[in-house]
Amino acid sequence: MALEIKVLDYGDIELENSFLVLGHNCGRTARVPVYGFLILGGQYPVLVDTGYRSNEIMQVLGMRGMQFHENMIENQLAQHGLKLGDIRYILHTHLHIDHAGKDDLFPMNTTSVINRREMECSVSGLMHPQYPQADIKHLIDRLHTPQALRFLDLELSGPIEIIPGVVCEAANAHTEGSMNVIVETAEGTANICGDVIYNFQDQIIDPVRIPQHMEWQVTGNHAGSKRQEKAAIMKLLNNHRFLLPIHDIPAVVDHGQVIGRINGPTIPGPTTQSVPRRNWFPV
Ligand SMILES: [Zn+2]
Repeated sequence: MALEIKVLDYGDIELENSFLVLGHNCGRTARVPVYGFLILGGQYPVLVDTGYRSNEIMQVLGMRGMQFHENMIENQLAQHGLKLGDIRYILHTHLHIDHAGKDDLFPMNTTSVINRREMECSVSGLMHPQYPQADIKHLIDRLHTPQALRFLDLELSGPIEIIPGVVCEAANAHTEGSMNVIVETAEGTANICGDVIYNFQDQIIDPVRIPQHMEWQVTGNHAGSKRQEKAAIMKLLNNHRFLLPIHDIPAVVDHGQVIGRINGPTIPGPTTQSVPRRNWFPV
């Protein structure tokens, strides 16, 4: 089944750059998008991530939210003729402040799907305040409501198919419970990879301060080891045609290398930008 992915624009965030790419441009402000992804053409409409609750809530991390009327999740869905209640599943790459802020707008018969390890992390206190109270309290309400929440145990079960052509797998990066969402498209698999990659240019295409060949720079915000982060990125690059992180425009990948970007509303879609190859040998 050929599925299509629509890019939803939940608004931007301004933050300090070394949060994105380890030790890079410390003290400088960066502005990044916050995307959600709508998977259409399958058994049911499926949404990946819900963005951040409000501009105000980003201040708890010293960040600035820039969410405007058009970025409201109901307006983003309306662009595709959908209402909140039309979404069957919300898949969460993870539960950080900018990924699970709008679940409470959805009816309880829209099922939120979360890797159980991520739910545990969200109440551990270890990454406070990246898991804000209002978002997590709502998920606890779902936990106590029939059909409102589905847990996965991806580290133990291996990948799990949610609807035909949409599979969740453990990301093994960013947070302990992060998951990736793999979507079968007409042009190969797309991997919605959460915050495992923040910035293609500075981490992968021209990785800052990395002298080794085919070695990636990690983000400035991860819970595990750098080795894990690098291996998780390597796995993404070597197994998928499209990579769709939440805070950078999607990339087209060939033989483990980023060969283009898609800055458009639909994946697959026309490649709008080819990528200069500093580090690569012609094939
Ligand atoms: Zn994020």
